[in-house]
Amino acid sequence: MKRLALFIATLLFMAGCAKAPITGRTQIIMLSPDQEMALGLQTEQEIFKQERISHDPKYTVPVERVGRRIAKATNIDLDWKFYVIDNDKIPNAFCLANGHVFVYTGLFKYIDNDAQLATVMAHEIAHAIAHHVAERLSVAQLTGLAAAIANRAISQSGSEYAQLYKAAIGIGSQVGVMLPYSRMQESEADHIGLIIMSMACYDPKEALKFWEKFAKAGKEPIVYLSTHPTSRSRIERLKELMPNAIKEYGKCHQKRSGNPL
Ligand SMILES: [Zn+2]
Repeated sequence: MKRLALFIATLLFMAGCAKAPITGRTQIIMLSPDQEMALGLQTEQEIFKQERISHDPKYTVPVERVGRRIAKATNIDLDWKFYVIDNDKIPNAFCLANGHVFVYTGLFKYIDNDAQLATVMAHEIAHAIAHHVAERLSVAQLTGLAAAIANRAISQSGSEYAQLYKAAIGIGSQVGVMLPYSRMQESEADHIGLIIMSMACYDPKEALKFWEKFAKAGKEPIVYLSTHPTSRSRIERLKELMPNAIKEYGKCHQKRSGNPL
Protein backbone atom coordinates (compact mmCIF):
# COMPACT_ATOMS: atom_id res chain seq x y z
CA MET A 1 0.00 0.00 0.00
CA LYS A 2 2.78 2.38 0.95
CA ARG A 3 4.76 1.48 -2.15
CA LEU A 4 1.72 2.11 -4.31
CA ALA A 5 1.20 5.52 -2.77
CA LEU A 6 4.83 6.37 -3.47
CA PHE A 7 4.47 5.15 -7.05
CA ILE A 8 1.43 7.38 -7.58
CA ALA A 9 3.17 10.34 -5.99
CA THR A 10 6.12 9.84 -8.37
CA LEU A 11 3.79 9.66 -11.34
CA LEU A 12 2.05 12.83 -10.28
CA PHE A 13 5.40 14.54 -10.00
CA MET A 14 6.43 13.32 -13.46
CA ALA A 15 3.14 14.37 -15.00
CA GLY A 16 3.81 17.95 -14.04
CA CYS A 17 1.16 20.43 -13.16
CA ALA A 18 -0.97 22.43 -15.51
CA LYS A 19 -3.15 25.36 -14.60
CA ALA A 20 -6.71 25.88 -15.76
CA PRO A 21 -7.30 29.24 -17.48
CA ILE A 22 -9.22 31.97 -15.60
CA THR A 23 -9.58 29.95 -12.37
CA GLY A 24 -5.87 29.10 -12.08
CA ARG A 25 -6.70 25.71 -10.56
CA THR A 26 -3.77 23.27 -10.56
CA GLN A 27 -4.41 20.18 -12.66
CA ILE A 28 -2.76 16.83 -13.33
CA ILE A 29 -2.56 16.31 -17.09
CA MET A 30 -0.69 13.22 -18.29
CA LEU A 31 -1.66 13.52 -21.95
CA SER A 32 0.46 15.47 -24.42
CA PRO A 33 -1.21 18.12 -26.61
CA ASP A 34 -0.71 15.74 -29.58
CA GLN A 35 -2.55 12.94 -27.78
CA GLU A 36 -5.39 15.31 -26.95
CA MET A 37 -5.66 16.37 -30.59
CA ALA A 38 -5.67 12.75 -31.72
CA LEU A 39 -8.49 11.91 -29.31
CA GLY A 40 -10.47 14.89 -30.55
CA LEU A 41 -10.05 13.80 -34.17
CA GLN A 42 -10.96 10.21 -33.40
CA THR A 43 -14.15 11.27 -31.65
CA GLU A 44 -14.96 13.60 -34.51
CA GLN A 45 -14.77 10.79 -37.07
CA GLU A 46 -17.37 8.88 -35.06
CA ILE A 47 -19.61 11.92 -34.80
CA PHE A 48 -19.49 12.48 -38.56
CA LYS A 49 -20.46 8.83 -39.07
CA GLN A 50 -23.33 8.90 -36.60
CA GLU A 51 -24.83 12.38 -36.86
CA ARG A 52 -26.33 14.49 -39.63
CA ILE A 53 -24.52 17.81 -40.03
CA SER A 54 -26.86 20.72 -40.79
CA HIS A 55 -25.98 23.39 -43.35
CA ASP A 56 -29.07 25.48 -42.62
CA PRO A 57 -27.84 29.09 -42.29
CA LYS A 58 -30.55 29.76 -39.71
CA TYR A 59 -28.31 27.77 -37.34
CA THR A 60 -24.85 27.75 -38.90
CA VAL A 61 -24.57 31.55 -39.22
CA PRO A 62 -25.15 32.40 -35.52
CA VAL A 63 -23.07 29.40 -34.38
CA GLU A 64 -20.14 30.52 -36.53
CA ARG A 65 -20.55 34.19 -35.53
CA VAL A 66 -20.74 33.55 -31.79
CA GLY A 67 -18.13 30.77 -31.85
CA ARG A 68 -15.50 32.91 -33.63
CA ARG A 69 -15.96 35.75 -31.16
CA ILE A 70 -15.59 33.48 -28.13
CA ALA A 71 -12.61 31.63 -29.64
CA LYS A 72 -10.87 34.97 -30.24
CA ALA A 73 -11.53 36.05 -26.66
CA THR A 74 -9.85 32.90 -25.31
CA ASN A 75 -6.62 33.92 -27.03
CA ILE A 76 -5.89 30.22 -27.44
CA ASP A 77 -4.73 29.01 -30.80
CA LEU A 78 -6.73 25.90 -31.63
CA ASP A 79 -8.09 24.76 -34.98
CA TRP A 80 -11.48 26.29 -34.13
CA LYS A 81 -14.35 24.89 -36.18
CA PHE A 82 -18.09 25.14 -35.63
CA TYR A 83 -20.69 22.59 -36.68
CA VAL A 84 -24.43 22.20 -36.26
CA ILE A 85 -25.92 18.74 -35.73
CA ASP A 86 -29.39 18.30 -37.14
CA ASN A 87 -31.25 16.84 -34.16
CA ASP A 88 -34.21 18.70 -32.69
CA LYS A 89 -34.52 16.39 -29.73
CA ILE A 90 -31.21 17.23 -28.09
CA PRO A 91 -30.84 20.65 -26.46
CA ASN A 92 -27.09 20.50 -26.15
CA ALA A 93 -23.63 21.32 -27.48
CA PHE A 94 -20.08 20.08 -26.95
CA CYS A 95 -16.51 21.01 -27.83
CA LEU A 96 -13.78 18.48 -28.60
CA ALA A 97 -10.18 18.84 -27.46
CA ASN A 98 -9.13 19.98 -30.95
CA GLY A 99 -11.38 23.03 -30.73
CA HIS A 100 -14.19 21.67 -32.90
CA VAL A 101 -17.53 22.75 -31.48
CA PHE A 102 -20.86 21.03 -32.21
CA VAL A 103 -24.26 22.56 -31.45
CA TYR A 104 -27.50 20.55 -31.79
CA THR A 105 -30.42 22.28 -33.52
CA GLY A 106 -32.52 21.27 -30.47
CA LEU A 107 -30.75 23.91 -28.40
CA PHE A 108 -32.23 26.76 -30.41
CA LYS A 109 -35.67 26.35 -28.86
CA TYR A 110 -34.14 27.83 -25.69
CA ILE A 111 -32.04 30.55 -27.31
CA ASP A 112 -33.39 34.10 -27.68
CA ASN A 113 -30.22 35.93 -28.69
CA ASP A 114 -26.49 35.63 -29.39
CA ALA A 115 -25.56 36.14 -25.73
CA GLN A 116 -27.60 33.10 -24.71
CA LEU A 117 -26.03 31.02 -27.45
CA ALA A 118 -22.67 32.33 -26.20
CA THR A 119 -23.57 31.08 -22.71
CA VAL A 120 -23.71 27.47 -23.88
CA MET A 121 -20.88 27.68 -26.42
CA ALA A 122 -18.54 29.41 -23.96
CA HIS A 123 -19.30 26.74 -21.36
CA GLU A 124 -18.42 23.97 -23.82
CA ILE A 125 -15.32 25.79 -25.08
CA ALA A 126 -14.28 26.19 -21.44
CA HIS A 127 -14.23 22.40 -21.02
CA ALA A 128 -11.84 22.19 -23.99
CA ILE A 129 -9.44 24.98 -23.03
CA ALA A 130 -9.29 23.68 -19.46
CA HIS A 131 -8.38 20.21 -20.86
CA HIS A 132 -11.13 18.57 -18.84
CA VAL A 133 -11.23 15.35 -20.86
CA ALA A 134 -7.45 14.95 -20.61
CA GLU A 135 -7.69 15.60 -16.91
CA ARG A 136 -10.38 12.93 -16.48
CA LEU A 137 -8.32 10.48 -18.49
CA SER A 138 -5.19 11.26 -16.50
CA VAL A 139 -7.01 10.58 -13.29
CA ALA A 140 -8.39 7.40 -14.84
CA GLN A 141 -4.91 6.37 -15.96
CA LEU A 142 -3.62 6.72 -12.44
CA THR A 143 -6.64 4.82 -11.30
CA GLY A 144 -5.87 2.02 -13.74
CA LEU A 145 -2.25 1.80 -12.66
CA ALA A 146 -3.37 1.53 -9.10
CA ALA A 147 -5.79 -1.25 -9.97
CA ALA A 148 -5.77 -2.82 -6.57
CA ILE A 149 -6.90 0.37 -4.92
CA ALA A 150 -9.27 1.20 -7.73
CA ASN A 151 -11.11 -2.08 -7.58
CA ARG A 152 -11.62 -1.79 -3.88
CA ALA A 153 -12.69 1.83 -4.24
CA ILE A 154 -15.23 0.94 -6.88
CA SER A 155 -16.83 -1.70 -4.75
CA GLN A 156 -16.95 0.68 -1.81
CA SER A 157 -17.59 4.09 -3.27
CA GLY A 158 -20.41 5.87 -4.97
CA SER A 159 -21.27 5.83 -8.64
CA GLU A 160 -19.08 8.82 -9.43
CA TYR A 161 -15.90 6.78 -9.13
CA ALA A 162 -17.32 3.72 -10.83
CA GLN A 163 -18.63 5.84 -13.68
CA LEU A 164 -15.22 7.37 -14.26
CA TYR A 165 -13.56 4.00 -14.32
CA LYS A 166 -16.10 2.58 -16.74
CA ALA A 167 -15.80 5.62 -18.96
CA ALA A 168 -12.04 5.26 -18.95
CA ILE A 169 -12.04 1.64 -20.00
CA GLY A 170 -14.64 2.32 -22.67
CA ILE A 171 -12.27 4.91 -24.10
CA GLY A 172 -12.30 3.80 -27.74
CA SER A 173 -15.87 4.68 -28.47
CA GLN A 174 -16.62 7.14 -25.76
CA VAL A 175 -13.91 9.71 -25.43
CA GLY A 176 -15.05 13.28 -25.50
CA VAL A 177 -18.77 13.25 -25.95
CA MET A 178 -19.78 10.53 -23.57
CA LEU A 179 -17.11 10.83 -20.93
CA PRO A 180 -18.92 12.55 -18.10
CA TYR A 181 -17.38 15.60 -16.57
CA SER A 182 -17.14 15.82 -12.84
CA ARG A 183 -19.28 18.24 -10.89
CA MET A 184 -16.19 20.28 -10.14
CA GLN A 185 -15.34 20.52 -13.85
CA GLU A 186 -18.93 21.52 -14.66
CA SER A 187 -18.76 24.28 -12.14
CA GLU A 188 -15.37 25.38 -13.47
CA ALA A 189 -16.71 25.42 -17.06
CA ASP A 190 -19.56 27.66 -15.86
CA HIS A 191 -17.02 30.00 -14.29
CA ILE A 192 -14.60 30.11 -17.24
CA GLY A 193 -17.49 30.25 -19.71
CA LEU A 194 -19.12 33.22 -17.99
CA ILE A 195 -15.87 35.19 -17.99
CA ILE A 196 -14.90 34.42 -21.58
CA MET A 197 -18.36 35.25 -22.93
CA SER A 198 -18.02 38.60 -21.11
CA MET A 199 -14.53 39.10 -22.55
CA ALA A 200 -16.12 38.49 -25.97
CA CYS A 201 -18.59 41.34 -25.25
CA TYR A 202 -21.68 39.25 -24.58
CA ASP A 203 -23.80 40.45 -21.67
CA PRO A 204 -23.23 37.91 -18.85
CA LYS A 205 -26.67 38.63 -17.37
CA GLU A 206 -28.10 36.73 -20.35
CA ALA A 207 -26.41 33.60 -18.94
CA LEU A 208 -28.63 33.83 -15.86
CA LYS A 209 -31.71 34.32 -18.02
CA PHE A 210 -30.77 31.28 -20.10
CA TRP A 211 -30.14 28.93 -17.16
CA GLU A 212 -33.30 30.09 -15.38
CA LYS A 213 -35.35 29.49 -18.51
CA PHE A 214 -33.69 26.13 -19.03
CA ALA A 215 -34.32 25.09 -15.43
CA LYS A 216 -37.96 26.14 -15.68
CA ALA A 217 -38.42 24.01 -18.78
CA GLY A 218 -37.00 21.11 -16.77
CA LYS A 219 -34.28 20.70 -19.35
CA GLU A 220 -30.61 20.12 -18.79
CA PRO A 221 -28.04 19.40 -21.45
CA ILE A 222 -27.73 15.62 -21.42
CA VAL A 223 -23.96 15.70 -21.14
CA TYR A 224 -24.24 16.81 -17.53
CA LEU A 225 -25.99 13.61 -16.48
CA SER A 226 -25.86 13.01 -12.76
CA THR A 227 -22.62 14.87 -12.30
CA HIS A 228 -23.87 18.32 -13.13
CA PRO A 229 -24.62 20.84 -10.41
CA THR A 230 -28.29 21.38 -9.73
CA SER A 231 -29.79 24.32 -11.58
CA ARG A 232 -30.25 26.19 -8.32
CA SER A 233 -26.65 25.89 -7.19
CA ARG A 234 -25.47 26.72 -10.71
CA ILE A 235 -27.54 29.89 -10.78
CA GLU A 236 -26.41 30.91 -7.28
CA ARG A 237 -22.78 30.42 -8.24
CA LEU A 238 -23.21 32.43 -11.43
CA LYS A 239 -24.68 35.28 -9.39
CA GLU A 240 -21.58 35.27 -7.18
CA LEU A 241 -19.36 35.49 -10.24
CA MET A 242 -21.47 38.18 -11.90
CA PRO A 243 -19.62 41.31 -10.60
CA ASN A 244 -16.36 40.04 -12.11
CA ALA A 245 -18.08 39.09 -15.35
CA ILE A 246 -19.72 42.51 -15.62
CA LYS A 247 -16.31 44.13 -15.13
CA GLU A 248 -14.92 42.14 -18.09
CA TYR A 249 -18.01 42.92 -20.15
CA GLY A 250 -17.63 46.63 -19.34
CA LYS A 251 -13.98 46.63 -20.45
CA CYS A 252 -14.84 44.97 -23.75
CA HIS A 253 -17.89 47.19 -24.28
CA GLN A 254 -15.82 50.33 -23.80
CA LYS A 255 -13.14 49.10 -26.18
CA ARG A 256 -15.70 48.33 -28.88
CA SER A 257 -18.00 51.31 -28.53
CA GLY A 258 -15.77 53.92 -26.92
CA ASN A 259 -18.42 54.36 -24.20
CA PRO A 260 -18.62 52.92 -20.72
CA LEU A 261 -21.50 50.53 -19.92
ZN1 LIG B 1 -20.35 21.08 -19.11
